[in-house]
Parts: sequence; structure tokens; C-alpha cells
Amino acid sequence: MFLPGSEGGVNARVAVLGAGPAGLSAGLWLKRLGLRPILLERGEAPGGLVNLNFLENRWVLGHVHVTGQELGRRFCAHARAEGVEIRLRARAVALLPEASGAAQIVLESGEMFCCAALVIATGTRYRGLEILGEAQDGAIAASGRVALGPYAFLDTAAQAGRHVLIVGGGDNACENARLLLDVGARVTLVARSRIRARRQMLHAILDNPACVIHEESRVIGLALARDTLALKLALAGSEQTLLAERLHILAGYTPNTDFLADFLPAAWQALLARDEAGYLRTDSWGRTGIPGVYAIGDVADPEFPSIVSAIAQGAKTAKALEHDLRDAPLFPCGLDFPANP
Ligand SMILES: Cc1cc2nc3c(=O)[nH]c(=O)nc-3n(C[C@H](O)[C@H](O)[C@H](O)COP(=O)(O)OP(=O)(O)OC[C@H]3O[C@@H](n4cnc5c(N)ncnc54)[C@H](O)[C@@H]3O)c2cc1C
Repeated sequence: MFLPGSEGGVNARVAVLGAGPAGLSAGLWLKRLGLRPILLERGEAPGGLVNLNFLENRWVLGHVHVTGQELGRRFCAHARAEGVEIRLRARAVALLPEASGAAQIVLESGEMFCCAALVIATGTRYRGLEILGEAQDGAIAASGRVALGPYAFLDTAAQAGRHVLIVGGGDNACENARLLLDVGARVTLVARSRIRARRQMLHAILDNPACVIHEESRVIGLALARDTLALKLALAGSEQTLLAERLHILAGYTPNTDFLADFLPAAWQALLARDEAGYLRTDSWGRTGIPGVYAIGDVADPEFPSIVSAIAQGAKTAKALEHDLRDAPLFPCGLDFPANP
């Protein structure tokens, strides 16, 4: 069995970038399969997007009456109980291949360690800051009247009787509208294109007289007016200013892949396929075009970003990786080896 990165010949070390559901699941399975995963999480805590899921879980089988956040705590506790090593505030800045087929991972702190394979599980981040434009850093952002992405779900019950303008036309935007309408808020939904939410989501708000939907429309101006926000809208064919107590921006997610441009050796970049939105492309086992480099979870799954698929892909890729590592060095040798710092 070929074991680069074995540091003593016991079991191979595998670096996993990101400790969300995908990374935690891969860590658990790699450990159970006899490898030595190390999870490098750039944030302050493990758990990923689940940490921002304030709602009661209805979708992950077997965990009733717990919030998404509690689910995240359970995932982390399980991985830790199995001895999976999780490093927090760990920013990996470079991967330096070696002639042996292993590679050195360099952290921002300067620490380096050897690994036999790499799993990218860096997930996605919410979009929408660009809608705020210059207002990002000013009084509007500080007013507490603007909520982006998951934060739009944080205190829906407190919005009873208020007018909330939601930007977005996907499932999240419609779900947010439904929750607000349920507590007695008034909602205006502004979508850049046609509403693309699931029919079930859309129907839950469509006939509610407290909900107005503008398709093919945009927010083009934003100002604080006493205790409200004045929102200038470009509607199909006209402009209108609306007053609202809150602005919720649910404009979708984008994959965390930008760091790879500096992190991976230049000669490997061309082997890493992405779609037009930047999501990594893999085979069904999570293998990217670079031998030894795998991608799992939301960062490689624009079609079904979810806890269940992230966990399943983490497990599946761990199986593939253990198999791939049995007989041969994985990382490409001889493409170009940058000198170690
Ligand atoms: C409000 C909300 C509600 C949701 N509800 C549900 C639901 O009911 N059911 C469901 O199935 N799914 C739900 N989801 C989606 C689910 O949370 C995600 O699909 C899931 O968390 C994806 O897991 P992941 O591990 O791929 O990515 P993430 O959870 O995004 O984790 C990625 C991790 O990688 C870290 N990271 C990023 N870049 C780097 C880097 N360069 N180096 C190191 N670490 C890095 C991040 O800090 C993060 O911790 C919800 C999401 C949100 C926001």
C-alpha cells in the first residue's frame, strides 16, 4: 500500500478544507476507514452554514424538534468523539507538491504539514452585498434594518405588523415571505427575473393579499428615512419608491473557490474544471481533474446544495479516496514543483 504523508508509516494524512457538514462527514468516514484526516476550518467554529440555520429541522431524517444549529453541534460532537482532528482559524495558503507524490500544506501561520490527498469542502457564501452598494458600510448597514442571506430568518416573529421588502425570487425568498406573512407582516417581493422558486413555495404566498410580487424588477436606490428605509425600485416599465421597515436580501449563494487560484500550484489550475458560476466539477465520487484532489458538498453541487447531499458526498468521497490511495501516489508528479519556502 502506498502511503505518502504517513509520517511514520501508520496511516496517510488527508487534509480537508472546511468543517461544514461535508467536511465533517468526510472526516468521520476517513477516520473510520483508517486514514488520518485533519480538518482545516478558516472560521471560528466548525459547522459551516448550519450554524446560520435558526429554523427547526424538517428535512434531515431522524432529527426532529432541533434547530439547524443544534444539528451542526451534533455533527461536530460526533466527529470529535471519533477523534477527527479539527483546526479552527486555519487558513491554508499554499499546497506544495513533493516528488514522493505527497504535498506540503502551508498555513497562514507558517505551519506546514505533509498530506497524501486533499478534499475541498469549502461550501458557499451568500450573495447580495452588491445590492447595498455604498450603503454597505454606512448608517443603513448599522441600522439593523437590512438582513442578508440566513440572517433574514433570524427574527421573523418580531416583524409582525411591519412591511418587509424581500429581494430574491428563489426558494429562500419565498420561504422567508411565507414565514413573515404567517406572523402578520406585509411583504413586497422584488425579483430580478421571473420567480424560480418551487411551485409549492410560491403558492404558499401567491394569493395572500398582504404580499405583492414584482418580477423583472430591481432595487436601484436605498436611503434611511427616520425609522424606515426608502427603497427606490425599477419595476417593469416604471420607477417607484416604497417605505419598508426591513430589507431582506436573499440573492443566492456563490462557491468559495476564489482562494484556489493562489493555493494550488499554477500548473494544476488548468486541470481543475469549474462551471460558469465557479462550482467545482467532479465525477460522482468527488474526484476533480487533479489526481489526489477531491471536492464535496455545496462547493461542487449547485444542483442540490443541502445537508443530506453534503453528508452523503463526504462519505462517498472518503470511500473513493481510501481506494485510490491503496496503490499509487495521487498528486500529479513532475508538473512543476514550486520551491518550498
Ligand atoms: C438558512 C439556511 C437554512 C438551510 N436549511 C437547510 C435545510 O433545512 N436542509 C438542508 O438539507 N440544508 C439546508 N441548508 C443548506 C445547508 O446548510 C448546506 O447545504 C450545507 O451546510 C452545505 O455543507 P458544506 O459542508 O458543503 O458547506 P458549508 O456548510 O458552507 O461549510 C463550508 C465550510 O468551509 C469553510 N471554508 C470556506 N472557505 C474555506 C477555506 N478557504 N479554508 C478553510 N475553510 C473554508 C467555511 O467557513 C465553512 O465552515 C440551509 C442553509 C441555510 C443558510
